[in-house]
This record gives sequence, structure tokens and C-alpha cells, in this order.
Amino acid sequence: MHIRVLGSAAGGGVPQWNCACANCNAARAKPQLRRTQASIAISADGERWLVANVTLDIDHQIAAFDKLAPHAPRRSPIGAIVLTDANIDHAFGLLELRQAERLSIYSTETVRDVLLAGCSALRPFAKAPHAWHVIGDSPVHVNDAAGLPLGLRIRAIDVGGLTPQYDGGREAAGAASAVIINDGAHRLLYAPCVGKMTDGLRKELALADAAFLDGTFWTEHELSLQALSSRTSRQMGHLPISGEAGTLDVVIGLGGKHRYYTHLNNTNPLLDPGSDASRVLRDAGWMIAEDGLAFSLSKEAGSATSARR
Ligand SMILES: [Zn+2]
Ligand SMILES: [Zn+2]
Repeated sequence: MHIRVLGSAAGGGVPQWNCACANCNAARAKPQLRRTQASIAISADGERWLVANVTLDIDHQIAAFDKLAPHAPRRSPIGAIVLTDANIDHAFGLLELRQAERLSIYSTETVRDVLLAGCSALRPFAKAPHAWHVIGDSPVHVNDAAGLPLGLRIRAIDVGGLTPQYDGGREAAGAASAVIINDGAHRLLYAPCVGKMTDGLRKELALADAAFLDGTFWTEHELSLQALSSRTSRQMGHLPISGEAGTLDVVIGLGGKHRYYTHLNNTNPLLDPGSDASRVLRDAGWMIAEDGLAFSLSKEAGSATSARR
């Protein structure tokens, strides 16, 4: 299984267009600190790709990864899309893909319904020749829009998220999922929005050969401490990493290879490699995903190779 991190920031990216905080200013000064909005690409054969979440940065992300370059007129190696939730930064990149002759999309029923109700411009994707497949607990084969299998199976487990603000930010089953992608030899877990550390998520984190977990906020009151919002991390549908009942306490024993936090908000102290937070994370054996990070899980003895950009 081949994995490429297309983007690793929460909505807005780093730097965010209207922000001159220390993290955003640092990223303006040093391009290597810039991050696009969180998304990963996964492939069984290195040729055809499943993209998990499609952001408003998808154009730049395709341009930055030669394997996603089109190989013939109107022919893209992107075989299918899976959406973990209906947030604008995770799904509205579909609008950038509107020229697709046909597209294969996978999400929970809740995510599909929230998106189609909230954005009429997405409704063509729910009609032929496109295919919008509903996923849940049971694994299904990922097919491209022509019905050809990508050699991957996928399922979605509920992680207690909220629907997006444009839908009222309400609790709903299937509002946010961890998706588990399996090529028959390895499993990858992708969960950029985690509202609750469920037993199911804990179990899947332990089993996954590679995991990408919600790293939006380091602390519960990160936004209020920086006088940016009165809302807490949990009120925004994201468990914080640190603090009481933060995710790090749970995952600290689930170290090993390929354990990453992703979807970092531009307020997150982890964006500064010299911060205390970064040190704590390194000591816990977890890393932060970076744009361009790529690695493969090979079928021989689970060995892996990785490289950045
Ligand atoms: Zn997001
Ligand atoms: Zn900022």
C-alpha cells in the first residue's frame, strides 16, 4: 500500500489568509512550514489512487504529486474519493473536480445527505454517471467510476463527531468517521475529525499498520487563550491531543511505526518543532504528518520505506 500526505492542516491551512499569528507569520517567512488542508492519497498498485477528503487545495496538491497527474486527455489517476465528514475543508474540493466525466465517492449516509442539503452545486455527484456509495461498519470494495476495483476495501466507524456549522453543528450518527482502508495485507486508519475516543477507534488504532489521527488542537482552550474564539476544541467536534481525556493519553501505548497526528490548526503549538508540545509528542512516539510525506507498506514482513517530498 502506498500512502502520500497531500495536506496536513485544518481548515484555513498554514498560513491562513487573514491571520498574522506567530505560526502563520513563521510559515510566511519559511515556505517549508506551509501546510495545505488535510488529505491523503492511498493506492494498492501505485497507479490508481483513492483520495481521502478532497480539499479546496486539491489543485495544488495534484500539481505537487506527479502520480496524480492526468495521463491522457480527461483521464485522472484519481479512481475514487472517500469523505470522513461533511466539513467544507474536507469535502468542498469536490467542486474543483466538477469536470470529472464520472466520479466514484464513498461516505456515510449522513455525510452525503448533509452535503447535498447544504450545497446544491454538489448534487450532480449523486446522480449517474457519478456514483455516491454509502459506507458503514462493513467493509466494501473500492471501485472507480467504471466499476473497476482499486484493490482496496474500506469501512467507516463512527467517532462521535458533529455535523458542520452550516448544518447546525449537531450530533448525528455518521457525522464523522474514522475510515479504515485495507489492501489485503495492511490497514491504514484515517481520522482527522474525532469527537469521541470510542472503544472501536481504540481497537482500530491498535491494529492499524499506519494511523493518522485528529491533531487539530493541542489543548481544549487553545482558541480562547489566543482570544480567537470562545469555543472549545470539543465544541468544535475535535478532542484535544493533550490534557484530561485528550487523545494522547490513550494513544501513548499505541506507538510504533507510522503513527501521525494530522489536520493541525494554525493555532497548534505542534507547528513549532521547538515547542514543549512537540517535545512531548516526540517522547510519546507519535509524529506530525507533513505535506508531501510518503511511505509504502510492503507485503514482505510489513516493512516500510518513507520519504518526505
Ligand atoms: Zn477540517
Ligand atoms: Zn494564524
